Amino acid sequence: MTSTSPPDIDEYRRTARAWLEARTAGLPPDPGLDDARAFMADLYDAGYSGITWPVEYGGQGLSAAEERAFQQAASDFTLPVGVFGIGLGMCGPTLLSIGTEEQKRRHLPPLLRGEEIWCQMFSEPGAGSDVASLQTRAVRDGDHWVVNGQKVWTSVARQADLGLLIARTDPDVPKHQGITMFVIDMHDPGVTVRPLRDMTGESHFNEIFFDDVRVPAENVVGEANGGWSAAVTTLLHERVSIGMGAARTERPASFAALRRAAGERGLLADPAVRERLVDLYLRERAFDLLSAKMSQEVKAGIQPGARGSVVKLLLADLTLDSADAASEILGPDTVAHDDEGRIARALAWGPGMALGGGTNEIMRNIIGDRVLGLPREPQVDRAVPFKDLKVGTQAKEADR
Ligand SMILES: Cc1cc2nc3c(=O)[nH]c(=O)nc-3n(C[C@H](O)[C@H](O)[C@H](O)COP(=O)(O)OP(=O)(O)OC[C@H]3O[C@@H](n4cnc5c(N)ncnc54)[C@H](O)[C@@H]3O)c2cc1C
Repeated sequence: MTSTSPPDIDEYRRTARAWLEARTAGLPPDPGLDDARAFMADLYDAGYSGITWPVEYGGQGLSAAEERAFQQAASDFTLPVGVFGIGLGMCGPTLLSIGTEEQKRRHLPPLLRGEEIWCQMFSEPGAGSDVASLQTRAVRDGDHWVVNGQKVWTSVARQADLGLLIARTDPDVPKHQGITMFVIDMHDPGVTVRPLRDMTGESHFNEIFFDDVRVPAENVVGEANGGWSAAVTTLLHERVSIGMGAARTERPASFAALRRAAGERGLLADPAVRERLVDLYLRERAFDLLSAKMSQEVKAGIQPGARGSVVKLLLADLTLDSADAASEILGPDTVAHDDEGRIARALAWGPGMALGGGTNEIMRNIIGDRVLGLPREPQVDRAVPFKDLKVGTQAKEADR
């Protein structure tokens, strides 16, 4: 609590904390999907969902100060809201930025009430870092678009009711120009979601197949064939949201957790352990402060743009580094006598942080090009019509 906060903000924070304390006390130890939905609904009823979003779209219309006060109160609790993260952090903000009035009124209130879960369908087997090479097609048919193709690595797709999809709508123009963004109803006929198991043993992400899925024309987000700039809007929100989300979530291999574990094993007098812990503390502190600064900026309407990549990169490095520190300090206990398997899970999840939301190498490219103003990576295919490029299955067909 900062002593400089106005008294009404302190009061807001105290009330939020009391509400969170009472509501989280009633949660089961391992909350399921129904618990998560019920929690979001109660959060909404209590006025803590969409704190800065406009009132006409279900938000509270409050300022960044209230949002920050709520996040400060919430950082002491584990909230079962992860499944809504993509909706609240990426899809919702994209619709707020470029959605139609109808799209905002239809989709944002149910998202804030926890009634609808969202996913983001960008990556494909042949289009990850270079997502503009995507091959999923959408062809106009009267009042609809017909979608065929495949997406992969889609987080929470099995739980999702809706998702933002980018698809190729004009193969005759260069690859960045013939893409359109759509809202997809994940329950529509022709949408098949299959889970993919990751090395934590869980199925966090999925592959999705689209077979003649009919999408109403009013589901286009932004301009038809203007999907690249729509996707960039989502990706900018994604990087900031991953960073800020992580700042609000308890990190299993955090400084506090490792210090506790080292203390329990009588290792705190070991200079090597102390040095490792101090290094981790400094990096965590730097990450938390940068992420808090960016969070304030976003709420104040200042878009972080490419600087969001700095937060994302720092988080990926910190996640991997804290997993390394855990195994150095705890040795075999990392997996054998772990706090309910939480550190072992963090170890297995760590590498995914260096990929999801854009890889570390891509983040470095963006920071080099757009934050530091270094010379840009050469892009020889930017002006070539997509149909003439050798990408994915097109390449295989051309090589036959
Ligand atoms: C946990 C997790 C969740 C995810 N959730 C989603 C989701 O919800 N929705 C979604 O659409 N996608 C999701 N993804 C996919 C993610 O966006 C992609 O994995 C990522 O963009 C990288 O694409 P790729 O896996 O195809 O690797 P590739 O793009 O094939 O990259 C392979 C390697 O080459 C490097 N590389 C590629 N291009 C360059 C370059 N120009 N310069 C330097 N190095 C380069 C990469 O850094 C990487 O090391 C998720 C991934 C993970 C791990």
